[in-house]
Amino acid sequence: MNPIAPKMIIVGAGIAGLCAAVYARKCGYAVTVLEQHERPGGLATSWRRGAYTFEACLHWLLGSNPRDPMHALWREVFDIDRLQFVYPEEWMRVEGERGEQLSIYPDLERLEAELLRHAPHDEAQIRQFVHAVRSLSHCPLPSLSRAWRERIRTGLQLLPHMPLLQNLSHITSEAYGKRFNDPLLRGFFGEGENAQLAVLALVFALAWVSNRNAGYPIGGSQAVIGAIAQNLQHLGGVLRTGASVERVLVENDRTVGVQLGDGERIEADWVVSAADGHTTIYDLLDGRYVGERMAHVYRTYKPFPSFLQVSLGVARDFSQQCGYMTRLLEKPFTVDPQTALNQIAFRLFNYDPTFAPPGKTAVTCTLPTRNVEYWSHLSERDPQEYEAEKQRVANGVIGIFNACIPGVGDAIEVVDVATPATVVRCTRNWHGSMEGWLLTPQTGLRPLPLTLPGLQRFLMVGQWVMPGGGLPSGLITARRAVRRMCRQDGIAFAPDSHQKSPNAADGFPA
Ligand SMILES: Cc1cc2nc3c(=O)[nH]c(=O)nc-3n(C[C@H](O)[C@H](O)[C@H](O)COP(=O)(O)OP(=O)(O)OC[C@H]3O[C@@H](n4cnc5c(N)ncnc54)[C@H](O)[C@@H]3O)c2cc1C
Repeated sequence: MNPIAPKMIIVGAGIAGLCAAVYARKCGYAVTVLEQHERPGGLATSWRRGAYTFEACLHWLLGSNPRDPMHALWREVFDIDRLQFVYPEEWMRVEGERGEQLSIYPDLERLEAELLRHAPHDEAQIRQFVHAVRSLSHCPLPSLSRAWRERIRTGLQLLPHMPLLQNLSHITSEAYGKRFNDPLLRGFFGEGENAQLAVLALVFALAWVSNRNAGYPIGGSQAVIGAIAQNLQHLGGVLRTGASVERVLVENDRTVGVQLGDGERIEADWVVSAADGHTTIYDLLDGRYVGERMAHVYRTYKPFPSFLQVSLGVARDFSQQCGYMTRLLEKPFTVDPQTALNQIAFRLFNYDPTFAPPGKTAVTCTLPTRNVEYWSHLSERDPQEYEAEKQRVANGVIGIFNACIPGVGDAIEVVDVATPATVVRCTRNWHGSMEGWLLTPQTGLRPLPLTLPGLQRFLMVGQWVMPGGGLPSGLITARRAVRRMCRQDGIAFAPDSHQKSPNAADGFPA
């Protein structure tokens, strides 16, 4: 490493921190990433229980299509072409308790025909919805453009779509669903916590799926995180796990380093926080550089909820089942004293052979909740009751799964429950949020500033500066931040240098 290279500390080794580190190394910075947890990834994680791997985050990765600009950006941080993507023929199935079913297909012709067959009385709304998906399926993401020429070209391409983008970003998924009479179609748009995001997010998701630009990578989030972490190591970056940053050190309104939980102080020319936004602003920096805009954001924006994840190792082959099943419930399912759900979804990882032995399947069920205090309190104060509550939730989920696929209960050989207390412990995200800020009618598509007012040599990246979150938000904000640092330091931004990247499938560095 060049001894006179500017030193950069990155707080947090989620996707955003790792991407920032790779970009910065490519531009010649001496990079150290500090991660409080024992492994990198943050929310982009999975874990092993017995013979099964349970994925928390990755269901689709935007940019899987080599023709998409996002694909080119992923190539800058790891060798995405080594990943194997899968594209299901049936994206989702919505089911009622009386055997009624609705298939959501990525093929838009087939989707339109299926929706019209199922709910002919909703024809006008169905046609409008599919038209919206079709229109946006070739619409570029505004924030992806690199140089000003490209930005102008993207702007011109976006122009005809602006009224549609505006309309769809100003209505929640739940409210949009109410335009339909059919209960399964309404169920597709969701209800409650998970449906408070702008329907634009769902329309874009379906558009990308239909373009084969949001495939699932075999190996899930670990395949992506492991490959980026290896690339960082290969480029000479340092990743320290189990290193919790407790303070960002500031002198004369300029960051000079960080202090860890054990008192160790590390000096740096730049500090980039890729950690939770609230912790960064209000704890690591003691709330000294909030500014009016961010204070308003943290007072009024709505984060994604937290979640419980019930994971099941099932000794069954589900290759004939749809991998994503949403079940509408006639009687709400109680997750905790403040949370009752009218629908729950199962992911059957029948498309990932690395997650279970042949003939067996890893199944997950994510249950959104905002009652983080309840779970954190139980886990700290009453471990016995905490375990009992986890068991109760698991039993309820297994009961519903058994009703979806009769007899499957007998084939379950592993049960694992992660709660919001787990999410907070492993990621420190504010309120255990699963994805940062919800993309709502209030936030629109506008990203937040990467800087804090009055503080020099400090930047923020990740899901808390880009409403809607997701892995792409980590890469896009990291790229912007490093570009900005380079400009300020008079260093050439060189995202394509040192393109050598080791094998994605090899897993984490030691
Ligand atoms: C159930 C679920 C499904 C999802 N599905 C998808 C999907 O299909 N596709 C998609 O693209 N995205 C998906 N996401 C969203 C995606 O996982 C997140 O938006 C993204 O991983 C956030 O990355 P990040 O780096 O911004 O933040 P994080 O992942 O939260 O990383 C922050 C890191 O900082 C560390 N940290 C925090 N405080 C400190 C400190 N003081 N010192 C040191 N380290 C610290 C944390 O431990 C963590 O590792 C999903 C998320 C969930 C939960």
